[in-house]
This record gives sequence, structure tokens and C-alpha cells, in this order.
Amino acid sequence: MDKPTGAPVAGRDYPSDIAKVRSWFPTDAACLDYLDWLRWPCGFICPHCASAEAGREATGRYRCRKCDKQVSVTAGTIFHRTRTPLTVWFEATWLMTAPKMGVSASHVHRVLPVSSYQTAWTMLTKLRQVMSTTDSQPLTGRVEIDETFFGGPRPGVAGRGAAGKTLVAGAIEIDDHGWGRARLAVINDASAKSLRAFITDNVAPGATVVSDAWRSYPPALGGYEHVPVNVSASGKPAHEVLPAVHRLFAQVKRMVEGTYQGSGSVGHLQEYLDEFVFRFNRRHSRHRGLVFMRLLQRAVAAAPVGYRDLVRASRVKEKRPPGVVGPRRRPGSLEVVPEKRPWRAAEDRDSGT
Ligand SMILES: [Zn+2]
Repeated sequence: MDKPTGAPVAGRDYPSDIAKVRSWFPTDAACLDYLDWLRWPCGFICPHCASAEAGREATGRYRCRKCDKQVSVTAGTIFHRTRTPLTVWFEATWLMTAPKMGVSASHVHRVLPVSSYQTAWTMLTKLRQVMSTTDSQPLTGRVEIDETFFGGPRPGVAGRGAAGKTLVAGAIEIDDHGWGRARLAVINDASAKSLRAFITDNVAPGATVVSDAWRSYPPALGGYEHVPVNVSASGKPAHEVLPAVHRLFAQVKRMVEGTYQGSGSVGHLQEYLDEFVFRFNRRHSRHRGLVFMRLLQRAVAAAPVGYRDLVRASRVKEKRPPGVVGPRRRPGSLEVVPEKRPWRAAEDRDSGT
């Protein structure tokens, strides 16, 4: 099979709007075929032995001709053994690609036929995990860096020693045209060691880092060009001296505190930050459908995570909105069975058509 060439095209490689999502993917089989195409654009490759020789079982699974193992399209991905129909997953993924704000589990539970709030929360958490930036290119050029505290109304000492809050480091590319890509990460403290780890993970060597005059920056920035700005000596507030990174902090706080009503506290904060960054770094993408395709592409490349693993990873119990923690229902499907004008059923019956 030939590898698809060139950049993805709207209307051929990805759906351009929600109407197309529904007409391209009316059944789970159609969703599965799209995931198959995204996972193996050049045709099936056995994940066990890398052989390309395979047959298709009646169940739709591949059977490798070399190692004789059966492989389903969703095996080893976030959709592995999901009880939720793929049509529902695709709609949730589309909601996740909304350009500005995030989508909450209670919203998904309300608008999609998922069996419980817990199911909606698990789906979104899995999608958020594939939004992680670990595989993307580090920031380059001129990069503004600062830290900020996240946390509820818990009292803490002001400044870099504040107790009981979570410290987040942010970095954003700036040039004459405006802002480029960004990164956000939870860090243990504002020590040179923690900042060094954040910077080497996220900023390419040779970049110029603009920061405030905090004493940890010079030792953290060995190998980088450093432009320290003394905020207190400037007589201006930090958001004027380092405007880009502070606007970034304001936006992400609005998302975490608005969309999730603070429910993303501590335990899953990194995932919310990853989700924000994924969306922020694609804010100029003219096509939401392309973002949808990229997210599904990552989803079929990721290792599966179970609900228990997700909860275990959380240090803080997720706050659930009241009235949505009902019993589990059977998962509903969004499979479309065309109906024949039910509002005319009585007339049609009477006229014998
Ligand atoms: Zn094999």
C-alpha cells in the first residue's frame, strides 16, 4: 500500500466539521477503519514481530502470518477493551478539540450517551494523556520563562515559598510577530535543579531565555543565553516585564478554574496543563478537523491506561459535581440507523406508503 503523501487534506484525510464527523463515522465499524488507517497508514505492521504479512479474521482482527498472534486495531491503544462505542469516543474527541476552552466530564456525561460520569471522566483523562507534549520539538529562539502558583483558597506564604500550593513553570516563544509555542509543567520547587530539569526538557540548547532575576535562574541556565530582567528594579509589575508568560498563566488558570471548577486540583493538574498546551500550540490551526485527526493519531499510538491506574495516579480525589454520580447504565451508542420521518409515521401509515 502506498503511503499517503503530502499534508493532510480536509474532506479527504480528516472531517471538516461535526456534520462530516457524523456522516463519515455513522457506525463503530467506520470509526474502527479510520483508526486502522491512522495507526497503519502504510498497511498493517505486527506490533509483536514487525511483520507486514497478515490475514483478516472474521472478527475483524488481523492474524500475523509470521508469529500467528491476533491483533485488533485498538489493542495497545487508549481504546483497548473500551465498553464505550467508538462513535461516542469520536464525538468526545471532537468536543476535546474545541479551540478555546476545555470540556468537562460533567458536560460530556450530559451531552453524550456514556454510562456514567466516571466513564466520561476516564475518557477525557485518557485523551488528555495523549495530548502530552513529550514527543514534540523543544522551544527555540527567544523564550520567556517564569513560575506561578496554582491552588485553591488554601492559605500560604506569599512568593516562591508558598506552602500548600502547586508550583507551575511556564515557557513561551516570543518573536517580532507575537507568540509561538508554549510549555507548562508542575515543578517541585523553584530551585535551580527543578528549573534546570524543566528548561532542558522543554527548551532547545542555544535558545535565549528571558526570565526575572530570581537567583535560581543563572545556575539553571548553563548552556543557554540568559536575559535576566530585574522586576523589582524595573518598578513595573511582573506581568508587564514578562507579559507573554503571564498572559499564558492567566489563560490556563481561567481554563482550569472555569471549565473544571477547580476539580483539576493537584492530582491531575499536569494533564490539564498538557491539554491546554496542546490546544494553545494549535490555536492558529485553521482546521479543527486536523486537530481531531492528530489527537486520534496520538490516541492509537499510546499505551492503554485503565481507570484504576488513572485514579491511583491522582493524589487528590476528583471532585464530582452533585447529581451526576448515578448508577452505571449500559453504554449508549451514537450509531446512526436512518429513520424514516417518524413525525410523518401516522400519515404514511394511513396513506399506505
Ligand atoms: Zn507478528
